Formats: sequence, structure tokens, C-alpha cells
Amino acid sequence: MRRKLVAGNWKMHGSLQANHALLTQLRAAQEGLAACDVAVFVPAPYLAQAQNLLQGSAIAWGAQNVSKHAAGAYTGEIAVNMLCDFACKYVLIGHSERRAIYGETDFVAAAKFAAAVGKGLIPVLCVGETLQEREAGVTDAVIARQIDAVLELTGYSAFHQAVVAYEPVWAIGTGKTATPEQAQAVHAAIRQRLSLHDGALASQLQIVYGGSVKAANAAELFAMPDIDGGLVGGASLVAEEFLAICRAACS
Ligand code: PEP
Repeated sequence: MRRKLVAGNWKMHGSLQANHALLTQLRAAQEGLAACDVAVFVPAPYLAQAQNLLQGSAIAWGAQNVSKHAAGAYTGEIAVNMLCDFACKYVLIGHSERRAIYGETDFVAAAKFAAAVGKGLIPVLCVGETLQEREAGVTDAVIARQIDAVLELTGYSAFHQAVVAYEPVWAIGTGKTATPEQAQAVHAAIRQRLSLHDGALASQLQIVYGGSVKAANAAELFAMPDIDGGLVGGASLVAEEFLAICRAACS
């Protein structure tokens, strides 16, 4: 039986004061969340704050990006070891905003995934098609390409310590959510692709859905057999909304 994971992607939002209020409210509600995994992806400058406010709780924290390099002359980059210094559990890899705005290729995402796994950090690999790709009928091919780039670099066994997030680009931050059936079809295809390598691994892998998840649609998405929770952007910035999504996953 897979546990569900609900993770908040704060993107480039927050301040010491606002984060304090949000994290304190999440921590206060953690007892009702024991049946599922909960995490927040905070902007890197706030990792120490997240660690201070969440350590000892059931809520994990992580970063939204990481370098593929271990150390060196890479101004502005953040290494896996640095995230480990702040006890991060997870790191987002290949979010569509990194792919679209910062030109991250499948190969860069794969290298970052490998760097994270190498140090015991759990990568949350984001995959998903654009609207144009969906309308062209190439959704499965796009997602297969994104997953295969990682498989080729790391081998399938690296997915034992990983999460996949299916995030249709057309649903992120747009208010348009994939229907539960649309999302389920892609999640099943991802699981099927990994089961070609290792059936047990595929059946244990957490595959979460992201794209305008909110309290009002979380339960119907999470009821689908291959949807193991959500990666939540905008709605993760409002404590009561995020907690309602977590409760939908925990019930
Ligand atoms: C995201 O940032 O990964 C995301 C899914 O955003 P939103 O929930 O706002 O669509």
C-alpha cells in the first residue's frame, strides 16, 4: 500500500514573517496528518527557517532546485551537500518552470536527479506535457522521453528513492486542472513504463499529480488508483487550503 504525499511548492514566494506564520500553522496541525507524507519546498534562503520550525515534526522540507555539480566555480548554484546540511529530505527536479524559463533539458534534469540520489536526497522528478503537445497527441511520448533520460543515466534502481510528479504544463498556475481520468491515464502510463524494468519498484513508486490542485478538487484526484498525492503550488501558500488538501490525502 503506497502512502500518499502532499508537497507544497512555494515557488519564489515568502518572507521570514509570512513563512513563520505558515510553517507554525502547519506544524500545529501535524497530528492529523500522520497517515500521509507532507513536505514543503521553500525558497533556498529559508531552508534554515524551515529546519528550525519543522524539525522533530512529521512535515519534511526540501529545495526547489539543485546543481548537478558537487562543488566548484558555479556562481549562484547550490550543491546537494548544502541541502543536506539543512536536513532537506526532498528536492524538486525538472519543474516545468525550470525547463521552460531556464532551459533545463531532460539531460540536465537527469544529472540533477543522479546527484540527489547519490547523496540520499529524494528527487521529485517533474514531468509533463505542454498544451500543444497534448493537442498533438504526444503526451505519452513526451513523458516517456523525460523519464527515459533519467533511466538512461541512473538506471531504474535509482527510482527506489524517488518520487515522480506528473504536472501537465497547461494546468500549472492556470486554474485548469486535469480531470481525474486524464491524470490517472498518465500516471498509469508512467507506472507501466517503469514496470517494464521492475514491477515491484513500479508498484511502490509514489506518483503525485500537480496542476492547480486545491481543496475543492483534491479528494477526487487522490481517489484515482495511481494518483499518490499532489504537488501543490499556489494553494500551498494558504495554511488552511494546504491542510485541507493534506487531509484529503490522509483520509
Ligand atoms: C507547481 O508549482 O508545481 C504547481 C502545480 O502549481 P499550481 O498548484 O499553482 O498549479
